Amino acid sequence: MFRMTIAAVCVWAMSCAARADDPAVRAGIDLTLRQMEAAAEAGDRDGWLAAVAHGDPEWTKEQTYFANDLKKKPAADLMLSLGELAVTDGAATGDLTFAWTMPEKGERTVAFGARFVLEDGQWRYAGETWEKHEAAGVVVLCDPGLDELAGRVVEAFTNVRSKVDSFFGHDGTGFTSRTQKIKLYRSMKHLQQSICLSYEDSLGGWNEPDESIKLLSNARTGLKALERLLAHEYGHVATFAVGPKANDVMPWWVLEGVAELSAEANSGQRGPEGRVESWARMGNLAEWKELADFETFDKRWYGHVYTQGHHMLKYIDSRWKQEGRNKWLRSMGQGKSIDEASREVFGLSFEELNTDWRATLPAKEEAKPVEPKKEESRSGG
Ligand SMILES: [Zn+2]
Repeated sequence: MFRMTIAAVCVWAMSCAARADDPAVRAGIDLTLRQMEAAAEAGDRDGWLAAVAHGDPEWTKEQTYFANDLKKKPAADLMLSLGELAVTDGAATGDLTFAWTMPEKGERTVAFGARFVLEDGQWRYAGETWEKHEAAGVVVLCDPGLDELAGRVVEAFTNVRSKVDSFFGHDGTGFTSRTQKIKLYRSMKHLQQSICLSYEDSLGGWNEPDESIKLLSNARTGLKALERLLAHEYGHVATFAVGPKANDVMPWWVLEGVAELSAEANSGQRGPEGRVESWARMGNLAEWKELADFETFDKRWYGHVYTQGHHMLKYIDSRWKQEGRNKWLRSMGQGKSIDEASREVFGLSFEELNTDWRATLPAKEEAKPVEPKKEESRSGG
């Protein structure tokens, strides 16, 4: 008994001590990195996923999104380089640099501390070496040295969570009581890279079904800004929870519009009226179908997805109240199209709903004749 205890302690001590670069471990991880590079360049979804760790379901989900995107948009080139490794029992960490080029684009690079774990005899990529901050109902993952920021994120999430839950008609059971994971990215390029290699639009946060919430934030990001980001991103979590088909059926502008409405109602973000009324006067409102598909939309409508969507959702709330809006969302969450859901809940086709909404906005103004401009001397700057 005594001897076994000693032996067990010795094994524990040996395996837990971090060791310097171990050639066998490095060789195993190098194989994995080459596998990831080849998969990214070949658009090989399954090859990428075979190189990724599967112990954490949210990480698997995030990497599945990443790999699905690679299949649609393979990288022209990906080079992964790894700095010195620290190895503990079953895990290795080191600075990892992603350097990649998408077809006809310039090279992009992102570097961060990365972790690899031994699963089924292979070293697999397990993402960033986050520091973990746990509190009731929430865990914040971030780079080391951001304790104060992590504390503010916990406070901001606690301030908005129950408001967002009730805004979407969730009753405090099921998903509302589970632990929400929030990852903090200090640079936009790192947040973009974490989504997929092709992602290049500006963003402040990200959430997809069964993924962590991801936020762009740094040591100076204040409580109010975090509340706005979280009322939007957790608004997505709450939307996906209205029904299993929510993310497949709802047009993109509905997903973003209701998240923006959640941010306005639950964190004091500004309303959409000024911008949308001005678009209406300029004849610059988008057709809804232009705002429906995240994969194929014209970039000129990016702002409209959020703000015009927000305006329509606010109109629906004012006319049918929160309860009517949530019934409409739940109907789409069960797989009904936006037209079917509008007929079922509002007694209107979607086209009729659009006509009623448009009638609340100013008419298009005739363009004023442009005065001929005098030639001006140009100054540098
Ligand atoms: Zn969003």
